[in-house]
Amino acid sequence: MKILFLGPPAAGKGTQAQLLHKQVKAPLIVMGDILREAISQKLEVGIQAEAYMKKGLLVPDEVVIKIVLNRLEEEDCKKYGFLLDGFPRTLEQAKALESVDFDKVLYYHINDEVAIARIAGRRTCEKCSAIYHLQNKLPKQAGICDLCQGKLIQRNDDSEHVMKTRLIAYHEKTKPLLDYYQEKGLIVKINAMSSVEEIFKETLFAVGLARK
Ligand code: AMP
Repeated sequence: MKILFLGPPAAGKGTQAQLLHKQVKAPLIVMGDILREAISQKLEVGIQAEAYMKKGLLVPDEVVIKIVLNRLEEEDCKKYGFLLDGFPRTLEQAKALESVDFDKVLYYHINDEVAIARIAGRRTCEKCSAIYHLQNKLPKQAGICDLCQGKLIQRNDDSEHVMKTRLIAYHEKTKPLLDYYQEKGLIVKINAMSSVEEIFKETLFAVGLARK
């Protein structure tokens, strides 16, 4: 199974990718998590990426392309395929995956106002990166991750100011990928304005794991 998750920040694609990952063997590859991990481990690539991420700008293509191509070479990807969240985000990145036979590209769409409103309530586990939301996906115990008991934090790029820059980057650089994958006949559009459960039903249907 080779699935790509596309959509603006806060569309809920990360949550959907995590939910789908529980049901399939394909590894989940989340570019933002890989970069955040590299920052916390003070790796060279993390140091390069951090300045861009703090501002809400995209990390240069050559940096992220190298990370992904290396990751896709690993045994688990070769055996089971992969769920790819947060990559590609530019045409240049998409072209680096030209030879990959994706099954589907899931495009989660919401408008910018909803994205900005949603981001304010998003909380992320600092240990395992599970995603919660103060309005529609509360943890059982306030501030604590259900899965690993890690602390829930607000990502420093989830502020309204940085979010606006991330949305501009999305419209300028990532949205053109819609046409690119549409031409390849791979896009499935999913309305991401409804509840997590409703959207997950659509996700399962889109990848052929549920019937309507
Ligand atoms: P995310 O967790 O997907 O919202 O990503 C957080 C930040 O990581 C983005 O705002 C970018 O700065 C950086 N990032 C993640 N994925 C990519 C990518 N494919 N290309 C460039 N920058 C990326």
